[in-house]
This record gives sequence, C-alpha cells and structure tokens, in this order.
Amino acid sequence: MTRESSIEILRKIGVTPSPQRTAIYHFLRTHAIHPTAETIFEAVRAEQPTLSLTTVYNTLKLLAEKHAVWEITIEGGELRYDANMCEHGHFKCLHCGEVYDLFPAENEPLMPSVPGLPEGFVLKEIQLSCRGYCPKTDCRAALAATSNYTSE
Ligand SMILES: [Zn+2]
Repeated sequence: MTRESSIEILRKIGVTPSPQRTAIYHFLRTHAIHPTAETIFEAVRAEQPTLSLTTVYNTLKLLAEKHAVWEITIEGGELRYDANMCEHGHFKCLHCGEVYDLFPAENEPLMPSVPGLPEGFVLKEIQLSCRGYCPKTDCRAALAATSNYTSE
C-alpha cells in the first residue's frame, strides 16, 4: 500500500488529497488496528505537526460519508475507524481491549440472516460487533476470575 495509491483512492471518491487528509487515510490503510480518532491524531501529528484533532474528526467523517472508512461502534460512545471495506465483523476483548477482525469464510455471509427485519425494509449494511475474551493468557485468566466470581 503506497501513499500514491491512497492519494489515488481519495481522488477517485472526490476527496481533495491534502497532505493532512492523505496522511490520515494512509495511516488507516496501513495500520489495521481500529484506532480511535485520538490514536490517529497522536500518530499522524508526528508527520503533520500542524494537524488538529478537529481536522482528524472532520476528515474521518468525510471519509466515512464517502464509504472509504468504516466507523465502528463497539461500545457506547467509542468510535473506531477501519479502512478495510471488505465485509467483516469485529471482536473486542473485554480484558486487553484489542479489537480483532472477523472475516467470514469464503461464500459464507457475515450473518446468515437478520432476525426480526420487518417486511419492506431493505438492508444495506450490517455491523457485527462482538465482545468477549481473546485467547491471550492474561485475558483467559481474567475470564476465569470472572467465572469463579459469578459462580459463587
Ligand atoms: Zn485480550
């Protein structure tokens, strides 16, 4: 993923590739870590010293409107960003806070059906956001501690 290809995509979707917008979008494309706006700001500011958090928010909003990034809500109020536009879900570990991608197997829908979708409604997008515990040793230990606590 080159910076040139990021600029190319921005042009294609009708976003003027200013150096700051390009840096934000390129960071998202090259860091699949589901960062928050604050994380992006801290990371990109090193390269763009005049960057403001407001510019980050505005750029992310614009990119989301143009379907170049996904706004992911995993927990209330916490928005994270993802430039991978392939259909996939997310899993957040309740212990370490890491957000993992969930990719459906080939030819397998992300969700087989949507329960309770009334007749006449047309579904265009699904966000699958899961929370639980990842397989890291510390996180397993935290889960075990929770289970012991609730079973008493
Ligand atoms: Zn974890």
